[in-house]
Amino acid sequence: MAASHKSITAAEIKAAVDHAYESLKDTTGGKNADYIPYLASVDPTLFGISVCLLDGTVISAGDVDHTFGIESVSKVPTAILAMREYGAVDVLEKVGADATGLPFNSIMALLLEKDRPSSPLVNAGAIAACSLVEPIGDADGKWRAITTNIAELTGHEPAVIEELYRSESATDFNNRSIAWLLKDYGRIYDDPNLSLDLYTRQCSLGTTAHQLAIMAATIANDGFNPVTNKQVFDPDFAPKITSLITTVGFYERTDDWLYKSGIPAKSGVGGGVLGIMPGMFGIAAFSPPLDEAGNSVKAQAAIRQIMQELGLNIFAASRLCVCQCATPASEA
Ligand code: GLN
Repeated sequence: MAASHKSITAAEIKAAVDHAYESLKDTTGGKNADYIPYLASVDPTLFGISVCLLDGTVISAGDVDHTFGIESVSKVPTAILAMREYGAVDVLEKVGADATGLPFNSIMALLLEKDRPSSPLVNAGAIAACSLVEPIGDADGKWRAITTNIAELTGHEPAVIEELYRSESATDFNNRSIAWLLKDYGRIYDDPNLSLDLYTRQCSLGTTAHQLAIMAATIANDGFNPVTNKQVFDPDFAPKITSLITTVGFYERTDDWLYKSGIPAKSGVGGGVLGIMPGMFGIAAFSPPLDEAGNSVKAQAAIRQIMQELGLNIFAASRLCVCQCATPASEA
């Protein structure tokens, strides 16, 4: 007999989000990133979870409106922007889709790959993706293109956390080496310093768990933002970006993550994680303390727990769901 999809209500999702929040909110473990000094000073007890269903209903618990540094989660929208500007084939050729299996800022990965492609979701590929961005209008056009794309994906105009940008720019020595190695290998398509600055600025943008859940839902919904009701990108790009997230979203811990959680997700050292259940929902969680690979400990635990409670897994036919979204807002 063919496996049939589960049916899940918004009330069941809300219960799972509340349970995860309550059971994890007082737990500790992990450590704030400190190689970017600003991040070490962020309150480690902040914790929020947000799920955005494909009818635009947002279900949340905790500090979901607290603004934090988007960091590497910003690699996702800029990879989408590169696809919007160049198409999925060119992004594969110019940047790549290779899950390095190494840390996000690995120079070793770059030395091994040389002129072969990487992924726009690791630092080298993300700096290359920034170099590709087409300017809108004037000299600040590249930056405007990056932030406009994020605003379309989240429904919210993002702003740089200036202190984070200063902190990150003053300590980005490793990334400077990456930008110039990319130049050596002919894999950067604009001035290396300018491209690195764009990358650093996009990592320093403020975001919230609520906004990331909407971005995740837009990807899960084939590029249609369910909150703004706008088609942001070509539906054909959705499986491409989700495949990149699946293969490298947690860097050298991606395989363990997928094995345990059953959901493609992408982390940032600011403590944010965004997860995609295609055709079902987008989810985001935020908590600053990280594991050794730079992935939020509590955000991972929360998303795993919610997936388990709902009995969902992207790799199991009987554990995909049809969300019954028509729930009154008061219940959600
Ligand atoms: N801006 C950070 C860096 O380049 C982002 C890393 C991350 O979030 N994993 O190191």
